[in-house]
Amino acid sequence: MSLTKTNISKLQVSKEDMKSYGYQVIDAIVEHFDTEHLKKPVAYASRDEMDLLFNAEIPEKESDFQEVFDFVIKKVLPNSNIVSHPKSFSFVPGPSNYVSVMADTLATGFNVFSGGWAASPAAAEVEIVTMNWLLKLFKFPAKTGGGIFTSGGSMANLTALTTARQQRCGDDFSKAIIYMSDQTHSSNIKAIRILGFKKEQVRIIPTDLEFKMAMNKLKNAIAKDRLEGLQPFCIIATAGTTNTGSVDPLNEIAKICKIENLWFHVDGAYGGAAILSKKGKQLLKGIEKADSLTIDPHKWLFQPYEMGCLLVRNHKWLSKTFSEKPEYLRDIEGNTSEINFYDHGVQLTRRFRALKFYMSMKTFGLDAFKSAITYSIDLADNVEDYLRKSMNWEVISPATLAVINFRYNPIGKTFSEKELDALNQKISQNVVDSREALLVTTVLQNQVVLRMCLINPRTTLNDVKETLELCESFTETRL
Ligand SMILES: *Cc1c(COP(=O)(O)O)cnc(C)c1O
Repeated sequence: MSLTKTNISKLQVSKEDMKSYGYQVIDAIVEHFDTEHLKKPVAYASRDEMDLLFNAEIPEKESDFQEVFDFVIKKVLPNSNIVSHPKSFSFVPGPSNYVSVMADTLATGFNVFSGGWAASPAAAEVEIVTMNWLLKLFKFPAKTGGGIFTSGGSMANLTALTTARQQRCGDDFSKAIIYMSDQTHSSNIKAIRILGFKKEQVRIIPTDLEFKMAMNKLKNAIAKDRLEGLQPFCIIATAGTTNTGSVDPLNEIAKICKIENLWFHVDGAYGGAAILSKKGKQLLKGIEKADSLTIDPHKWLFQPYEMGCLLVRNHKWLSKTFSEKPEYLRDIEGNTSEINFYDHGVQLTRRFRALKFYMSMKTFGLDAFKSAITYSIDLADNVEDYLRKSMNWEVISPATLAVINFRYNPIGKTFSEKELDALNQKISQNVVDSREALLVTTVLQNQVVLRMCLINPRTTLNDVKETLELCESFTETRL
């Protein structure tokens, strides 16, 4: 079918063709949701293979719509990992949900400008309302608290650290020191570099045997920096490390921040969502004391990409850090209760991210999110049980916030550490090569281990068992 471009030089399509095009898009998305678990989650291809498929000059002339569409469906979309696949265990999966996908489609379709109140009072209000929901869930102060939706956790961390620097150091931050653990997510280091801090201004505090920031070492580092005339200024705690799901001792760090007058940033990009489960709430105690908190709804709050979020104790910190008053925005300032989100973060033009959060919460209800998150935490506990009872597997870090690390180390065989590393690396390589599951390694205390992040509520214990059996099948043709 070729599209009737009613006025090609105005990039217009006829109403009928818009519809049939749209139906094909929706059909493809629905088909994907309905059948993704039957596909293979891994789609590795080399640059050469991709060049061969896609490399072309910019087309000067029009093409047939159906050809373009079919090419994308057949060649572009299948050449990506399926991060919402039940056997996508690596990194942090993106389980997503259909309602939010449709919400994103609406937000894009209407091309809502979500920067300022005047451009879309409803978009601003929906962002305020959903932000208030989150503030309440994390027990942040209702009156003063605020926040902003961002593209992801990296941007939320950057926004947080920019705010911290501005509020605590002003223009001269040459002596300011930031503390974080060796398990802190790399996006924080990136943010610190972007902000112009030098390497010497960052203290990487070692973690204990449970991969939590070692408090004694943190206290020593702060004391030493003070003695040297430096200015300790910010501690970045992690609530759910990417490697092991560990939560730094939040209450203790909060106390240190209070005594030492330091900014308390919590990176809960991955783990923060666990506040919606009983076990998670227990583990995350103290998170409510953060000055700033990153969460990442496109991970464990099941939103499609992109959606991160920063919460702060005092919304004025954001406006004091980010608001500029250029003359061309003069006419749309509004009064103070009418928030212009371009004053709360980096972006002026922003897509309407809040809509997907709003629509999915309203449609499914908070209880559904609570059940989904609780399910994953329990599933990881069950996987831990299963591994501990098996002759072949050794648990390296126990199930924490739905993350578990383990390795193949069968009873009765004696492998050296080096052989175990090679064996587990090979298992992972073979699994990924088979494309049946996405299961990659990480390194914990110098051991190569397999890591599963089980936040997809559609992943079952059986999916995990099948994957472990697949792993075991590769050890028979060992090394
Ligand atoms: C994923 C993650 C980030 C980065 O978030 P993006 O959304 O990928 O930018 C930061 N911190 C932690 C702990 C994470 O798990």
